Amino acid sequence: MTVVYLSLGSNVGERKAYLNQAVSLLNSLQGTRITKCSSLYETAPWGKIDQADFLNLCCELETALSPQNLLLSCQKIERDLGRVRHEHWGPRTIDIDILLYGRSVITEDNLQVPHPFMTERAFVLLPLEEIAPHLTVNGAELRTYITALDSTAVKKIDAD
Ligand code: AMP
Repeated sequence: MTVVYLSLGSNVGERKAYLNQAVSLLNSLQGTRITKCSSLYETAPWGKIDQADFLNLCCELETALSPQNLLLSCQKIERDLGRVRHEHWGPRTIDIDILLYGRSVITEDNLQVPHPFMTERAFVLLPLEEIAPHLTVNGAELRTYITALDSTAVKKIDAD
């Protein structure tokens, strides 16, 4: 079993429901169970402000799936959830990124791990730090990356 960290995001429609469904589908993948899930974090859009706010979370899972099979499974979940009124709601119903797969460094054409942008995104680092404060990425603690970023647009929201 390998410990994996994922980032999930949605900015379309019933964002929280999509995230919950995605987490539950991930938990039912073969040889896989979710072991931790962060709070939800809302990110106010900047630049193109007619876009809806993003809701993000990170989760930790243990899986027997290979990195490529996990990627395929995540993409299937994205497709399955995105299929609901896809034309009207657009493609960002749910986005799932593989952040870390154990200590592996993967540089394949369709899969880079650690995720190349994770250390530049406060909406990834804040929920990840909540569930795994002692993680290091490329030799540095999450906090080191977070303090270098402007994270004011990212707000933890209370569960209800
Ligand atoms: P996006 O539009 O952000 O969902 O990016 C999807 C594309 O990123 C897919 O073609 C994946 O093959 C590729 N990709 C590369 N590395 C990763 C990763 N660590 N997690 C998820 N997708 C990845």
